Amino acid sequence: MTDNGHSLEGDGRVVDLRSDTVTKPTSAMRDAMVSAEVGDDVYGEDPTVNRLERECATLLGLEAGLFVPSGTQSNLAALLAHCGRGDEYIAGQEAHTYRFEGGGAAAFGGIQPQPLPFRDDGTLDLQDIAAAIKPDDYHFARTKLICLENTQGGKALDPAYFESVRKLADRHGLKLHLDGARLFNAVVALRRSPRDFGRYCDSVSVCLSKGLGAPAGSVLCGGSSFVEAARRWRKVLGGGMRQAGVLAAAGLHALTHHVERLADDHRRANTLAEGLRKKGLSAQQHTNMVFVEGMDAAYMAAHMGSGGVRVSGSRWVVHMDIDDADIRHVVEVAGALR
Ligand SMILES: *Cc1c(COP(=O)(O)O)cnc(C)c1O
Repeated sequence: MTDNGHSLEGDGRVVDLRSDTVTKPTSAMRDAMVSAEVGDDVYGEDPTVNRLERECATLLGLEAGLFVPSGTQSNLAALLAHCGRGDEYIAGQEAHTYRFEGGGAAAFGGIQPQPLPFRDDGTLDLQDIAAAIKPDDYHFARTKLICLENTQGGKALDPAYFESVRKLADRHGLKLHLDGARLFNAVVALRRSPRDFGRYCDSVSVCLSKGLGAPAGSVLCGGSSFVEAARRWRKVLGGGMRQAGVLAAAGLHALTHHVERLADDHRRANTLAEGLRKKGLSAQQHTNMVFVEGMDAAYMAAHMGSGGVRVSGSRWVVHMDIDDADIRHVVEVAGALR
């Protein structure tokens, strides 16, 4: 094992850059899980889950929180709570909610998506949003909700943008949901507080199992009546867990110990991108992600894999289980990519 717990294969380390979901819980996190106070969360009796929900809501400046098994279920419960059959939500063409969640809102809620292209900075154009809002006429689906994502493809969106979308939403009587699976990466990169984003949103979903390094779980926050509606949907969707405090304890540990350190991931991603460029490759870095451009994905995966570096596609993701030596190793292996 190396100093960061990597198993050595032959004479090389295995560096996994496929996603920031591949992290293993640290021993301190496992200790917190072992000693968690628990109860039956479906009865609302798990003190650790209740504490996680309260702490997340407070961080975001929202009234209440709901612990859910995954980010996908969090977004789905939010959509089901905000929208009914024949309603519509506006989201990015590449947004996780629209593109990567199996069409759940349509499958389970009869909710129609209205996808729009993301601009280069990860925002949706305000004029595009306004133009996509349907008039009150029974030819059209009822536009109810705007969904934003932060970070979007690693890009951190500023609170000022959220303020402008909030104003637009208010003019049209729409709700605003933030898929903040990696919101803490934006918080750290922009040196803002989670509240600076939460204050403009009706609901915010944050993942504990991405850069924060917990084994599972997301928290969906919003107003009390919204969270009660989402709690009902969570049960319907099969997400009512029992002694879930063992997982919530990992989430609380992550919120306390793994937020500030995201700056290390961003710094290492930057070092990685610079190293790749010095080797003549084209690479763009946004927070903890590096996008390696102009190269065949299958070839890249095979070449990097032979050097003990796991990648899938052009997005290479830096996370807790990657150290400085790993970055040097990745640059070295990538140096022979052509
Ligand atoms: C990963 C992710 C989700 C979903 O999270 P899961 O826990 O994998 O279901 C939602 N939105 C974004 C932007 C994500 O990156």
